[in-house]
Amino acid sequence: MKGKYLWIILSSMLFACQSPKKNDGDFDAFSKIFIEDLWKQYPNWALSVGYHVYDSILEISDDETRKAQLEFSNRYLKMLDNFDIETLSATHKTDYYLIKNFLSSRTFYNELKAYEWNPSDANYGNLLFEIFNNNKATLAQKVTNASKFLSRSVEYYTKWKKQLKIPTKEHNALAISQLQGTIAMMRKDIADSFLQAKADTTVLQQAVRSIQDFIVHLQSIASNIQSGKIQSKSFRIGKDLFSKKFEVEIQSSYTAEEIYKKALAEKQSIHQQMFTYAQKLAPLYIKKSNTPKDTLAFIKSVIDAVSRSHIDRTHFQDEIVRQIPILSDFVRGKNLLNLDSSKPLEVRKEPEWMAGIAGASISSPGPYDSNGKTFYNVGSLASYSPSEAESFLREYNQYTLQILNIHEAIPGHYVQLLHSNASPSLVQAILLNGAMIEGWAVYAERMMMEAGWDNNTTINKVASPDEMWLMYLKWRLRVCCNTILDYSVHVLDMTEEEALHLLQYEAFQEKKEAQSKWKRSTLSQVQLCSYFTGYTEIYELREKIKKENKNFDLKTFHEQLLNCGSAPVKYISSMMR
Ligand code: ZN
Ligand code: ZN
Repeated sequence: MKGKYLWIILSSMLFACQSPKKNDGDFDAFSKIFIEDLWKQYPNWALSVGYHVYDSILEISDDETRKAQLEFSNRYLKMLDNFDIETLSATHKTDYYLIKNFLSSRTFYNELKAYEWNPSDANYGNLLFEIFNNNKATLAQKVTNASKFLSRSVEYYTKWKKQLKIPTKEHNALAISQLQGTIAMMRKDIADSFLQAKADTTVLQQAVRSIQDFIVHLQSIASNIQSGKIQSKSFRIGKDLFSKKFEVEIQSSYTAEEIYKKALAEKQSIHQQMFTYAQKLAPLYIKKSNTPKDTLAFIKSVIDAVSRSHIDRTHFQDEIVRQIPILSDFVRGKNLLNLDSSKPLEVRKEPEWMAGIAGASISSPGPYDSNGKTFYNVGSLASYSPSEAESFLREYNQYTLQILNIHEAIPGHYVQLLHSNASPSLVQAILLNGAMIEGWAVYAERMMMEAGWDNNTTINKVASPDEMWLMYLKWRLRVCCNTILDYSVHVLDMTEEEALHLLQYEAFQEKKEAQSKWKRSTLSQVQLCSYFTGYTEIYELREKIKKENKNFDLKTFHEQLLNCGSAPVKYISSMMR
C-alpha cells in the first residue's frame, strides 16, 4: 500500500513538471479574469475609473484589507509564473510586465505605510462624486448606492483613527481642509440628490458627523504638534523609499539618482541656450542702462519684458478656442500625426467642483467610457484681483499660452489619450504610466517647436521665433527643476529657502508659483519627476531610432509610439524596436 501511495505522489509530481507552460493564446483569457478580480479586490479603484459595479462599497482601510490585497498579489504572481514570456506578443509582454509590476508594488506600499502618516487618503469625496457621475444609473440607483456606501463611514473613520500614528504636519493640514470640502459637498449637492429622490437622509447625516469627528481628531493632533507635545513626522521620505517609489511608479530604465543628475546637466544647458536668446532680444526689450550684470538676472529681465505681451483677462478662453484649429492645421500640414476628427475637443469653463485655481487641464473619458467627450477645462479668472490677473496673464502670456495649448491639447495630452483609449489593451488603459503621459506632452512642446511652430505667423501675425524659444525654454526649465526639487527635497534635505531660490532665481518663477510648488513637493513624492523622465526617455528613443534607420519618418514614429498606449517608455521602446 505504501508503495502505491508514493507512486501516485510521484506521478502527480511528474505531471506537474511536464504540464506545458501557458502561452500567448491563453493570455487574453487570463487578463480578463485578472481585471474582473482586480475590481472585486479594489472596489474603490474600480469606481474611480468609471467601472460602476461596486459603487455601493466603501473599502475599509485596515490590516485585514491589506492582508487580502497581498494575498491577491501573491496568487496572481504565481499565475503569471505559468506563462512562457518568450511566446507572448509584444502587447501581451507589456501587459505581463505591467501586471507584474503592479502586483509586486504591494510589498512596497506596505513598507511605505502611508496610512500611518497621510490622513488625506481618508477622504472619500472624489468617490462619492463618482457615484453620482455614473451616467448609466438613475437618480434613485445612485442615491441607493451612496446610502450603502456611506453606511460604512463610521467604521471607516474609526479604523482610520486607529491606524493613523503620527501624521506629517503638511498632510494633516491638507486632510483637514479637503475633508471640510467633502462635508460641504455632502451638505449641498449630495443632500439635494437625496431630497430629490425622497430618500432617508439619516445615513448621510451620520456620515457627515463621522467626518467631523475625524476632523476634530486631526485638529487635536495639529495643536499637539504646534505646542510641541508631539513631534510630527517629516514629510521627507528619504533616499531608500524615494528610489523604490520611483522604480514602482515611474518605471523608467533609469534610477531616480540618474534622472536627477541628468536634470542638473539639463538645467545648465538650458541656461546657456536662454542666455543666447536673451542677448538677441535685449536690445528690443530693455534699456541698456538697466541691464543686470548677473547672467541669470539678465535672462530674467528679458523674460519679464517679453511676458508683458499677453491677452487681456476677458478674452483668455476665446484665445484658447481660437488656437485649437490652428494647431490642428499645423499638425496635419506638417504631417506630424494622425488626428481623429470624429472626437473633437470641447473647450469649457472649469466646473466648480474642480480645484478652482485658474489654469487649464484635460478631462478625458476613462477606459470604460471610450466614446465619451474630452474636455479642455479653462479656469476662470473672475475671482482674481487686477494684480493677480496680471501676474497670471504674464505667466500665460502670448507665447507660453501657445505652449500650454500644445501641452494640454494638440498634439499633447488630448491626442495622446485618444490614441491610448483606442489601444486594445484594457490592462494598459488601467495601469496607466504617468511618466509616459506627461512625458509625451512635454516632448510634444519641443517637437512642435522643432517642426517650425516657433516661426508661425498664423498665431502672432509677426514671426517671433526668439521670443517663442526663450519662453519655451522657461517651460522646459520648469519641468527640469520639478525633478531637481522633488529629489532634493526628499533625498537631500533641501530647505524651503533653498527650494525657493532654485525656483525663483534659477527657474525664473513668480514667488506665488514657487511657493505652491514647494508645498506640492512636501505633499507628493516622485510624481514631480514624471514629466522630465518621460520626456527624456521619449526624446532619447526617437534619436536612437533615427540613428538606426535611414528611412526614419517622424509621423510613423509618433503613430507607433502613441499606438502602444500609456505604457512605460521602456516597454514601448522594446515593442517598437
Ligand atoms: Zn499686462
Ligand atoms: Zn501635463
